[in-house]
Amino acid sequence: MTRPHVFAGSPLDRLDYRRRDAEWIAERLADPATRYLPVSKLAPAVQRADGPTLAWCRSHALELAADGSDPIFLGARGDEILFALDVTGLENPSERLGLRNAEFPDLRAIASRLSVEDASIAAQARHLVDWHSRHRFCPGCGQPTHTKDGGWSRLCRACSTEHFPRTDPVAIMLVTSGERCLLGRQPSWPRPFFSALAGFVEPGESLEETVRREVKEEAGIDVGAVRYHSSQPWPFPASLMIGCMAEATSEEIRVDESELEEAQWFTRDDVGRSLRRPSDVLAVPPRMAIAHALLRVWVGE
Ligand SMILES: [Zn+2]
Repeated sequence: MTRPHVFAGSPLDRLDYRRRDAEWIAERLADPATRYLPVSKLAPAVQRADGPTLAWCRSHALELAADGSDPIFLGARGDEILFALDVTGLENPSERLGLRNAEFPDLRAIASRLSVEDASIAAQARHLVDWHSRHRFCPGCGQPTHTKDGGWSRLCRACSTEHFPRTDPVAIMLVTSGERCLLGRQPSWPRPFFSALAGFVEPGESLEETVRREVKEEAGIDVGAVRYHSSQPWPFPASLMIGCMAEATSEEIRVDESELEEAQWFTRDDVGRSLRRPSDVLAVPPRMAIAHALLRVWVGE
């Protein structure tokens, strides 16, 4: 693959050994050259004027956001040290932060127009800011937790438990049978939009077992061989999409209507045509979705 999936392809060195050093983090926060990516309501700041590109602030942002949202260390890009900062508490954040022409658009809507690098940094920032906002209290004892390691963990001082940002694995699989592939449509999707089946990996399951279980549950199809293809960070809020190719060993579809509106076999020609242009028969997910890449690989593009 020449270009990584949208949200992968980070240019940052995460400097794991540095971020655990509280003194080093404090020095970086005191350095006027350090840059901050403001995130408001989980949307990273974007400058639409030229690009679009991510919109960065200097240290003045720190004082404005000082309502308990600690800066989160993202990493280093060359000599540049980058943090994310949750500014959700600020009204009119662009104006308050002095970011002219900056907006806070939904990341899903803007991601495919950002550079590979910016989309990836935005995904990392969104994922971490969301995790912090929802883990202010210890799930073990209910006491407040505190930012540690530049924002890569939260510590509960009451019971000495450390909590780490979580990533939830999701299997997404293109099920094929010779010249046909199986695609499904959720009730909320308009016809003829279909995509690859997907589901969360459950506790005590291997990835292959998730693929077989989900396909059986959602479409009643048996799956034999499962092959890993590639993966995509998906920070809505905390997923890792794990793309697989799966071989069907049965043909008769029985849809679980609580999960899917319908599932259908499509030919390689149907898919090839719809990748070029949505047809009356089939519309497939946009380029930024890993399902699009799996379909493209299957038709040999
Ligand atoms: Zn605790």
